[in-house]
Amino acid sequence: MEVGVLKRADGSSYVEWGNNKVFASVYGPKEVIPRFLARNDKAILRCKYNMTPFSVEDRKRPGPDRRSIEIGKVTSGALEPAILVEDYPNSMIEIAIEIMQADAGTRCAGITAATLALVDAGIPMRDLVAACAAGKSNDEIVLDLCKEEDNSGQADVPIAIMPRSDDVTLLQMDGILTEDEVEEALKLAMSGCKKIYEMQKKALKVKYGG
Ligand code: UDP
Repeated sequence: MEVGVLKRADGSSYVEWGNNKVFASVYGPKEVIPRFLARNDKAILRCKYNMTPFSVEDRKRPGPDRRSIEIGKVTSGALEPAILVEDYPNSMIEIAIEIMQADAGTRCAGITAATLALVDAGIPMRDLVAACAAGKSNDEIVLDLCKEEDNSGQADVPIAIMPRSDDVTLLQMDGILTEDEVEEALKLAMSGCKKIYEMQKKALKVKYGG
């Protein structure tokens, strides 16, 4: 994880997570365009998640699709509780996540990278947001599925948390799990998030000391 990698963004980061390679950048807080979207009680977040055509094995058609729009939306929802949006009414914070190489788990890598970029942009936060997925592959509950495990996998449960309070800000589930397996997957994913949190703090210390 590296913080402050793009000169012209207000905040940025680069995260390599297994074979995932992700850039995140933050612009703002700035004027809301179009103006009618502005809220007088808080800043709005606009989060774009994009996968480059060469990031996956079968070339991905450029531009937004249903999946990327959904991931942008859930990423926004995962980050907002951690940001003091109420301090910036009538403004907007733009977050751009670029997946340069994908190997499953990119939404978690994106949320993790975007958090670092927000801090780098000087946006006041209640806590960092750390994300990680657990899932089921070969009848076993495992942490952080890779592409092969995900393709043949039986379930994928990405989560994001604010580690100081353990508040969950993202919880999705793909596939089928029993109640006990859900419990086990959540516990495992939570432990993954804690590890990611430590790595985020370390990356921020490298840039900002302390
Ligand atoms: N993927 C792909 N082509 C696409 C979308 C996804 O090859 O158009 C791959 C990519 O490696 C991605 C993985 O499928 O990381 C799993 O995608 P999913 O929608 O589960 O999201 P993620 O696990 O990346 O958050």
